Amino acid sequence: MRSPRAAASIADVRAVAPLLLLPALLGAPFLLAPRAHADEPAHAYTLEARLDPVEHVVHGEGRIRWTNESERAQDTLLLHLYLNAFASDDSVFMQESGSQLRGVRFRGEGGITVERLVLDPDAPAAHDLLEGAEDELVEGDRTQLRVHLPRPVEPGESVELGMAWESRLPPVFARSGWHGAFHMVAQWFPKLARLEPGGEWASFPYHGHGEFYADFADYDLTVETPPGWVVGASGVMREERFTSAATVRRFEAERVHDVAFAAAPWFEELEGTHEGEAGPVHVRVLYPPGFRGAAERHLEVTLAGLAHYGAHYGSYPYPQLTVIVPPRGADGAAGMEYPTLFVTAGPWFRMGGLPIALHDEVTAHELGHMWFQGLVASNEVAWPMLDEGITEWVTGDLLQELHGRARSGIDLFGLRVDGFELRRALALGGRPTPPPARPAHAFSGNAYGRAVYGRSAAIFETVARTWGRARFRRALGRYAKAQRFRHPVPEDLLAAFGEEYGDWMPRRVLHPTLFDNAICARRVTAPVRAGGRTRVVATRVGLGLPTRVRLEGPDGRRSVPWPGDVERLEIDEAGTFTRVWVDPERRGLLDPEARDDAAGEREGGGIFRRALFWLQTVLGQVAP
Ligand SMILES: [Zn+2]
Repeated sequence: MRSPRAAASIADVRAVAPLLLLPALLGAPFLLAPRAHADEPAHAYTLEARLDPVEHVVHGEGRIRWTNESERAQDTLLLHLYLNAFASDDSVFMQESGSQLRGVRFRGEGGITVERLVLDPDAPAAHDLLEGAEDELVEGDRTQLRVHLPRPVEPGESVELGMAWESRLPPVFARSGWHGAFHMVAQWFPKLARLEPGGEWASFPYHGHGEFYADFADYDLTVETPPGWVVGASGVMREERFTSAATVRRFEAERVHDVAFAAAPWFEELEGTHEGEAGPVHVRVLYPPGFRGAAERHLEVTLAGLAHYGAHYGSYPYPQLTVIVPPRGADGAAGMEYPTLFVTAGPWFRMGGLPIALHDEVTAHELGHMWFQGLVASNEVAWPMLDEGITEWVTGDLLQELHGRARSGIDLFGLRVDGFELRRALALGGRPTPPPARPAHAFSGNAYGRAVYGRSAAIFETVARTWGRARFRRALGRYAKAQRFRHPVPEDLLAAFGEEYGDWMPRRVLHPTLFDNAICARRVTAPVRAGGRTRVVATRVGLGLPTRVRLEGPDGRRSVPWPGDVERLEIDEAGTFTRVWVDPERRGLLDPEARDDAAGEREGGGIFRRALFWLQTVLGQVAP
């Protein structure tokens, strides 16, 4: 992030970092000191991590500066200790997931132990916050920690915390962990929950679905590994020191809401540059030996995506982006986004034909999250539709741009399938799901992927195809730019679309579909021919989307408009027509049953069964 306050805050963090090593020499306690300067970041983390890859443990020390930005004084703080999801089968994560995620079963153990947590670490007698701390806010779950302050922090005041902890990484299963020498270190440090402006903590245990909601902060991260190891981390590397015993690297990530890193001794590297509006973006792809071909494709898609997303949703504002290609067997870490870093997926070989299932899909999706979660930081547990749903749509939109609409899902052995048709078939076919605009815990089984990802994408694509793609991107861009570095709710999305289209769009289309599962189910009768005329009847249930009906036969082709306010359309056309389609350009993707959208000679439908098969394969890879 390049911002006017960048230079000042880098200097501040640099000044603080060495002090960590010399606490005894420091005086001048600033317990509960008000913020000194308006240009200091309200929230800042200094984290020092030493990775022990033999024991799969990270030894951490650090500081947090936190500012009460709410309107109410606070006498408690809430921290997330998310690795404790893997400490017990009774954690919310394990209970919800049945000890498995995306088909991967958990075996092993992980966790985080806070060894020291004090208020005002520079004071001669720092206040021990672990005394009286509550670590089991939900029965059986130790992923949240509530600590009590010696006196309330007033609105606008800042406090400084000092801490030391040990993170025990699990065998990689869900996002974090190790596989052989590969270490994905995520959700790994004591991290403050977000305090809402009204003064309530928006804290939740670590869930199987949805994990992000935090304040934007400046992070200074130092990672120590054995010599010869390679590290990819959030932010930009500022220093690298080599000794015979260790390699130490320091990274800075400004104005992000999380940091993560990956480490392995065998990472190979590919680099690229995106010329962004805010300056060049250095793209770094770290991949296992033998994955060169795949890494090249990930880099191509990343560069294309930075240009595409940047043009529509605001330029990528950070100087670096790191892409981690996980090794075979580390699927649990794959397909995950962190600010300025993501973990992609896909086999070592480069293969065309399945844009929706292989490299292109996962890279396009995780890159999309740099905007819809990284920059537009909605509450993922409360409103997963705002990041996964929107990201799924921008992913499909980018794949259409890269491959063409007809081949954006599958283009293999003569079979071509539109990627959004696949999403529609999986989301709307089969058992009903809750509507997309629900909290993450409202969904069980595969309903989360089908509703939050698939149905949201089908809804957005229906609007884009019915009323114009450029206009849809403009509306979404309005939302993305207005909400950058903020924490929006669905009303903010609906308001942006209302500004672009008028009030009718949120009221008549987006709210009924996203909140109430409104559909637009159409069917048409087979053509009846008599006396040189052809008659068909088309009927619709649900949303009134404008479309057309096409007739074809020996007398050529006719296209009849079907306005949105007509539920039953009777067509009586001079000439002989043997086949009829409603919505022949497939603009509406809110019909659970697409096979009755055409009638007459020739049969269709097999493609949808195949499509369903492929979509399930895909969602198994990328969700959540
Ligand atoms: Zn996602």
